[in-house]
Amino acid sequence: MNTRTICCKLITTPSAEDAFEETSQLFAEACNHVLKIAVAEKTHNAIKLHKLCYTDIRKLFGLSANLAVRSIRRVASCMTQLKGKRKHPKEFRPKSIDYDARIFSYREGSVSLTTTKGRLQTPMLLGEYQKKALAGQNPTSATVIKKHKAWYIHIVIEFEGQLKGGEGVLGIDLGLSNIATASTGLRIEGKARQDFKKRRAKIRASLQSKGKKSTKKVLKRLSGYENRKIRHENHVLSKQLVEEAKRHNCGVIRMERLKDIRSKTKTWNKHLNRMMAGWSFYQLQQFVTYKAAALGIGVELINPAYTSQTCHQCLKLGSRDRESFNCLTCGEEHADVNASRVIALGGAACKPARISTRKGS
Ligand SMILES: [Zn+2]
Repeated sequence: MNTRTICCKLITTPSAEDAFEETSQLFAEACNHVLKIAVAEKTHNAIKLHKLCYTDIRKLFGLSANLAVRSIRRVASCMTQLKGKRKHPKEFRPKSIDYDARIFSYREGSVSLTTTKGRLQTPMLLGEYQKKALAGQNPTSATVIKKHKAWYIHIVIEFEGQLKGGEGVLGIDLGLSNIATASTGLRIEGKARQDFKKRRAKIRASLQSKGKKSTKKVLKRLSGYENRKIRHENHVLSKQLVEEAKRHNCGVIRMERLKDIRSKTKTWNKHLNRMMAGWSFYQLQQFVTYKAAALGIGVELINPAYTSQTCHQCLKLGSRDRESFNCLTCGEEHADVNASRVIALGGAACKPARISTRKGS
């Protein structure tokens, strides 16, 4: 089962806004209460936290039963997410409320939501995209979010990922000079992104060298801008790639597992390291995955070892010189296109054999 989130603006009256305001305030206070206990008890287990906090939350904050449950779950999942980093959330702010099937329902353009002031029927502002996505759906969870003084709802819908895509496989090679190269020959250049990253790095470096107190704030704002820009680009890019798969009747998209992608790049230095870190390949893959799933196209991640050294036609070792890949028997091919075709085949699996130059072999 796959999920997709649909964002809609809520059409609120002043009294509805008051209700959301109060509910989000109490929801955040409840979360902070649970957080304190979770940190003291050193646990992120939702069931344990439920036993420890549920009755108190109901009494202290007057939240409905399921809003109380949601606040505990929210803390538990935040704690779990940050567990690996040996951190925990500092504080929850009154900007959102979580809903599940018992306290939220969707019907024909409006949602019914439980608040501290009772159940509210709230209409939504729907565009064509949202109408289409929500038609005939029976969503089971949602989050109400406050943004720039307006209220939005993010509705999670589930759908079967039945494979209705075609027989073909699309391989995608991710890189620095070409952000993405598809096995169909489609190449998306990375120069603009590289230049953007370089410029931003320079600006950041010069700000940091000044070391004023206010720079921290400016840096924060800049990083927000950078992230939004890259995120937007990744949305555009992933859409382009998924459409390429659809156009070529591909039921599966194959990409490289990012975990070991670094071992592929030969010369590793500080500069490249920063480039890779800010590249957001992970985000790009996530976007491709969910956009593909919506079209019934599956995504597979393969081992990236030797994908750039193997010839996609004879699977023997070739030589790579910058943009071009040379195979002694099959000739020349664009290096990234060759790699994406090896990826489409499912990767090289093992070190490719050298082509023997002796006769009769
Ligand atoms: Zn070859």
